[in-house]
Parts: sequence; C-alpha cells; structure tokens
Amino acid sequence: MNSTTSVEIDKQQCNGCGICVEICPLDCLRMDEHEKAFMKYDECWYCGSCTLECPVDAIILRLPYLIR
Ligand code: SF4
Ligand code: SF4
Repeated sequence: MNSTTSVEIDKQQCNGCGICVEICPLDCLRMDEHEKAFMKYDECWYCGSCTLECPVDAIILRLPYLIR
C-alpha cells in the first residue's frame, strides 16, 4: 500500500468492481493488473465520492490537516 497518497485502497478488501474509477470526478483512480484499484494521479479534491460509493469500504481518504 502506498501510504503517501490522499487515497489509500485496501487491496485485500477491494473486489475489483471499478466503481471508484468510474466515479472519481478527477479521474485519479485506475485498476491494476490484479483488478484492484489504486491512485494513479494524486490530484484528489477530497470530494469523498469514492469512499462513499465503495461497496466494501476499501478506501481510506486522508484529509489534509487544514480541511479536516
Ligand atoms: S469501489 Fe471499492 S471495491 Fe470497487 S474497485 Fe474501488 S476500491 Fe475496489
Ligand atoms: S475523494 Fe474524490 S477526487 Fe479524491 S480520489 Fe476519491 S473520488 Fe477522486
């Protein structure tokens, strides 16, 4: 897991549905070769859509301190 990105995806939990990739308004997320989501571009606006829509709660959004 990459702990430096805004969004961390638990690859054990991810079921490969692709919803987060489809829903991200900034197109930050992609599926890897194992059909697990990952953050390809760290351009996150912290909208929270991916965390809300993930059916298995695999996505952790790290809000920067200033907007918590
Ligand atoms: S929405 Fe959740 S389960 Fe679906 S691909 Fe994204 S991280 Fe994986
Ligand atoms: S919080 Fe919003 S902008 Fe950031 S990765 Fe998730 S859907 Fe994309």
